[in-house]
Amino acid sequence: MVREQVVSRGVRDRRVLKAMRRVPREKFVPTRMQHEAYKDSPLPIPGGQTISQPYIVAFMVKALNLSGGEKVLEVGTGSGYAAAVLAEIAAEVFTIERIGELAEGAATVLKNSGYSNVHVRHADGTEGWIGEAPFDAILVSAGAPKVPKSLLNQLKIGGNLVLPIGLAHRAQELIRVTRIGENEFEQEDLAEVCFVPLIGK
Ligand code: SAH
Repeated sequence: MVREQVVSRGVRDRRVLKAMRRVPREKFVPTRMQHEAYKDSPLPIPGGQTISQPYIVAFMVKALNLSGGEKVLEVGTGSGYAAAVLAEIAAEVFTIERIGELAEGAATVLKNSGYSNVHVRHADGTEGWIGEAPFDAILVSAGAPKVPKSLLNQLKIGGNLVLPIGLAHRAQELIRVTRIGENEFEQEDLAEVCFVPLIGK
Protein backbone atom coordinates (compact mmCIF):
# COMPACT_ATOMS: atom_id res chain seq x y z
CA MET A 1 0.00 0.00 0.00
CA VAL A 2 2.67 2.48 1.02
CA ARG A 3 4.91 1.82 -1.96
CA GLU A 4 2.25 1.60 -4.65
CA GLN A 5 -0.22 4.24 -3.45
CA VAL A 6 1.77 6.72 -1.38
CA VAL A 7 5.45 6.80 -2.43
CA SER A 8 4.56 6.49 -6.12
CA ARG A 9 2.45 9.67 -5.84
CA GLY A 10 5.23 11.68 -4.29
CA VAL A 11 4.83 11.49 -0.51
CA ARG A 12 8.39 10.79 0.64
CA ASP A 13 8.40 12.04 4.24
CA ARG A 14 10.11 9.30 6.29
CA ARG A 15 8.04 9.84 9.41
CA VAL A 16 4.78 9.66 7.48
CA LEU A 17 5.79 6.53 5.55
CA LYS A 18 6.98 4.80 8.72
CA ALA A 19 3.72 5.68 10.49
CA MET A 20 1.64 4.37 7.56
CA ARG A 21 3.62 1.12 7.55
CA ARG A 22 3.01 0.59 11.25
CA VAL A 23 -0.76 1.14 11.50
CA PRO A 24 -2.80 -2.04 10.81
CA ARG A 25 -5.48 -0.50 8.58
CA GLU A 26 -7.60 -3.67 8.59
CA LYS A 27 -8.45 -3.07 12.25
CA PHE A 28 -10.10 0.24 11.35
CA VAL A 29 -12.47 -0.98 8.61
CA PRO A 30 -15.73 -2.90 9.22
CA THR A 31 -15.18 -6.67 9.56
CA ARG A 32 -16.98 -7.49 6.31
CA MET A 33 -14.66 -5.16 4.37
CA GLN A 34 -11.37 -6.27 5.87
CA HIS A 35 -10.25 -7.88 2.60
CA GLU A 36 -10.42 -4.39 1.06
CA ALA A 37 -8.53 -2.61 3.84
CA TYR A 38 -5.44 -1.89 1.70
CA LYS A 39 -7.36 -0.86 -1.43
CA ASP A 40 -6.56 2.47 -3.10
CA SER A 41 -9.87 4.09 -2.12
CA PRO A 42 -12.02 5.34 0.74
CA LEU A 43 -14.33 2.70 2.31
CA PRO A 44 -17.71 3.00 4.02
CA ILE A 45 -17.85 2.98 7.84
CA PRO A 46 -20.98 3.24 10.05
CA GLY A 47 -23.12 6.38 10.08
CA GLY A 48 -22.84 6.92 6.31
CA GLN A 49 -19.24 8.10 6.76
CA THR A 50 -15.96 6.97 5.20
CA ILE A 51 -12.44 6.00 6.18
CA SER A 52 -10.30 8.15 3.88
CA GLN A 53 -8.19 6.77 1.05
CA PRO A 54 -4.71 5.84 2.40
CA TYR A 55 -2.94 8.31 0.08
CA ILE A 56 -5.15 11.18 1.26
CA VAL A 57 -4.32 10.40 4.90
CA ALA A 58 -0.60 10.37 4.05
CA PHE A 59 -0.90 13.62 2.10
CA MET A 60 -2.77 15.43 4.89
CA VAL A 61 -0.46 14.22 7.64
CA LYS A 62 2.56 15.22 5.54
CA ALA A 63 1.01 18.67 5.05
CA LEU A 64 1.01 19.24 8.82
CA ASN A 65 4.85 19.14 8.73
CA LEU A 66 5.19 17.30 12.03
CA SER A 67 8.67 16.59 13.31
CA GLY A 68 7.64 14.34 16.22
CA GLY A 69 6.48 14.97 19.77
CA GLU A 70 3.64 17.38 18.99
CA LYS A 71 0.22 17.81 20.55
CA VAL A 72 -2.29 17.40 17.71
CA LEU A 73 -6.05 17.92 17.38
CA GLU A 74 -8.07 15.98 14.82
CA VAL A 75 -11.69 16.82 13.97
CA GLY A 76 -13.60 13.87 12.45
CA THR A 77 -12.26 10.71 14.10
CA GLY A 78 -14.38 8.41 11.93
CA SER A 79 -12.74 4.98 12.10
CA GLY A 80 -9.78 6.28 14.12
CA TYR A 81 -7.32 5.38 11.34
CA ALA A 82 -5.92 8.86 10.72
CA ALA A 83 -5.68 9.38 14.50
CA ALA A 84 -3.54 6.24 14.73
CA VAL A 85 -1.25 7.47 11.93
CA LEU A 86 -0.92 10.82 13.73
CA ALA A 87 -0.24 9.03 17.02
CA GLU A 88 2.73 7.22 15.48
CA ILE A 89 4.42 10.63 15.01
CA ALA A 90 2.93 13.01 17.57
CA ALA A 91 3.22 12.75 21.36
CA GLU A 92 -0.48 13.25 22.02
CA VAL A 93 -3.55 13.17 19.74
CA PHE A 94 -6.92 14.62 20.73
CA THR A 95 -9.65 13.60 18.30
CA ILE A 96 -13.33 14.59 18.16
CA GLU A 97 -16.22 12.78 16.45
CA ARG A 98 -19.86 13.92 16.32
CA ILE A 99 -21.36 10.44 15.77
CA GLY A 100 -21.43 8.54 19.07
CA GLU A 101 -21.20 5.07 17.53
CA LEU A 102 -18.04 6.03 15.62
CA ALA A 103 -16.41 7.76 18.60
CA GLU A 104 -17.00 4.66 20.73
CA GLY A 105 -15.81 2.27 18.04
CA ALA A 106 -12.66 4.26 17.34
CA ALA A 107 -11.84 4.60 21.05
CA THR A 108 -12.08 0.81 21.43
CA VAL A 109 -9.95 -0.04 18.39
CA LEU A 110 -7.33 2.55 19.31
CA LYS A 111 -7.13 1.27 22.87
CA ASN A 112 -6.92 -2.37 21.77
CA SER A 113 -4.19 -1.46 19.27
CA GLY A 114 -2.09 0.14 22.01
CA TYR A 115 -2.59 3.81 21.11
CA SER A 116 -2.75 5.10 24.68
CA ASN A 117 -1.70 8.56 23.43
CA VAL A 118 -4.99 9.09 21.55
CA HIS A 119 -7.92 10.69 23.37
CA VAL A 120 -11.35 10.43 21.72
CA ARG A 121 -14.24 12.74 22.51
CA HIS A 122 -17.86 12.59 21.29
CA ALA A 123 -18.71 16.23 20.51
CA ASP A 124 -18.92 18.92 17.82
CA GLY A 125 -15.32 19.38 16.74
CA THR A 126 -15.90 22.77 15.10
CA GLU A 127 -15.54 24.18 18.61
CA GLY A 128 -12.18 22.49 19.12
CA TRP A 129 -11.07 21.10 22.50
CA ILE A 130 -10.77 24.10 24.78
CA GLY A 131 -9.32 22.36 27.84
CA GLU A 132 -6.40 20.98 25.81
CA ALA A 133 -5.64 23.94 23.54
CA PRO A 134 -3.36 25.24 22.13
CA PHE A 135 -2.26 22.61 19.61
CA ASP A 136 0.89 22.35 17.50
CA ALA A 137 -1.19 21.11 14.58
CA ILE A 138 -4.85 20.57 13.69
CA LEU A 139 -6.25 18.20 11.07
CA VAL A 140 -9.87 18.37 9.94
CA SER A 141 -11.07 15.24 8.11
CA ALA A 142 -14.42 16.60 6.87
CA GLY A 143 -15.24 19.37 4.38
CA ALA A 144 -16.12 22.70 5.99
CA PRO A 145 -17.86 25.68 4.33
CA LYS A 146 -15.24 27.93 5.93
CA VAL A 147 -12.38 27.69 8.44
CA PRO A 148 -13.91 27.43 11.95
CA LYS A 149 -12.74 30.42 14.04
CA SER A 150 -12.36 28.41 17.24
CA LEU A 151 -9.88 26.10 15.52
CA LEU A 152 -7.75 29.07 14.43
CA ASN A 153 -7.78 30.33 18.03
CA GLN A 154 -6.61 26.95 19.32
CA LEU A 155 -3.58 26.76 17.01
CA LYS A 156 -0.13 27.61 18.41
CA ILE A 157 1.86 30.31 16.65
CA GLY A 158 3.92 28.50 14.01
CA GLY A 159 1.40 25.66 13.87
CA ASN A 160 -0.44 24.32 10.82
CA LEU A 161 -4.15 23.62 10.33
CA VAL A 162 -5.00 21.38 7.36
CA LEU A 163 -8.60 21.09 6.20
CA PRO A 164 -10.83 20.63 3.15
CA ILE A 165 -12.89 23.73 2.31
CA GLY A 166 -16.01 23.64 0.16
CA LEU A 167 -19.40 22.00 -0.19
CA ALA A 168 -19.76 18.27 0.35
CA HIS A 169 -19.40 15.95 -2.63
CA ARG A 170 -18.34 18.84 -4.90
CA ALA A 171 -14.79 19.88 -5.60
CA GLN A 172 -13.28 20.91 -2.29
CA GLU A 173 -9.88 22.47 -1.82
CA LEU A 174 -7.50 21.05 0.79
CA ILE A 175 -5.86 24.06 2.38
CA ARG A 176 -3.15 24.69 4.95
CA VAL A 177 -3.44 27.63 7.32
CA THR A 178 -0.29 28.57 9.24
CA ARG A 179 -0.56 30.82 12.28
CA ILE A 180 2.31 33.25 11.91
CA GLY A 181 1.30 35.66 14.69
CA GLU A 182 -1.39 36.30 17.29
CA ASN A 183 -3.75 37.62 14.61
CA GLU A 184 -1.88 36.69 11.46
CA PHE A 185 -2.55 33.63 9.34
CA GLU A 186 -1.17 32.49 6.01
CA GLN A 187 -3.22 30.24 3.70
CA GLU A 188 -2.08 27.89 0.92
CA ASP A 189 -4.09 25.72 -1.47
CA LEU A 190 -2.71 22.17 -1.54
CA ALA A 191 -4.98 19.94 -3.64
CA GLU A 192 -8.51 19.25 -4.86
CA VAL A 193 -10.21 16.66 -2.67
CA CYS A 194 -13.63 15.17 -1.84
CA PHE A 195 -14.70 14.66 1.79
CA VAL A 196 -17.92 14.03 3.69
CA PRO A 197 -19.30 17.26 5.21
CA LEU A 198 -18.27 18.82 8.50
CA ILE A 199 -21.56 19.27 10.37
CA GLY A 200 -21.61 21.63 13.33
CA LYS A 201 -21.59 25.20 14.53
N1 SAH B 1 -10.24 10.52 9.80
C1 SAH B 1 -11.29 9.56 9.53
C2 SAH B 1 -12.16 10.03 8.38
C3 SAH B 1 -13.56 10.14 8.81
S1 SAH B 1 -14.69 10.91 7.72
C4 SAH B 1 -10.73 8.17 9.35
O1 SAH B 1 -9.51 8.03 9.28
O2 SAH B 1 -11.50 7.22 9.32
C5 SAH B 1 -15.06 12.40 8.61
C6 SAH B 1 -15.71 12.25 9.95
O3 SAH B 1 -15.98 13.57 10.43
C7 SAH B 1 -17.04 11.52 9.99
O4 SAH B 1 -16.94 10.44 10.85
C8 SAH B 1 -18.03 12.57 10.51
O5 SAH B 1 -19.03 12.04 11.35
C9 SAH B 1 -17.11 13.50 11.26
N2 SAH B 1 -17.61 14.86 11.50
C10 SAH B 1 -18.32 15.67 10.67
N3 SAH B 1 -18.57 16.86 11.26
C11 SAH B 1 -18.00 16.79 12.50
C12 SAH B 1 -17.92 17.72 13.59
N4 SAH B 1 -18.46 18.93 13.54
N5 SAH B 1 -17.25 17.33 14.69
C13 SAH B 1 -16.69 16.09 14.79
N6 SAH B 1 -16.73 15.17 13.78
C14 SAH B 1 -17.39 15.52 12.67
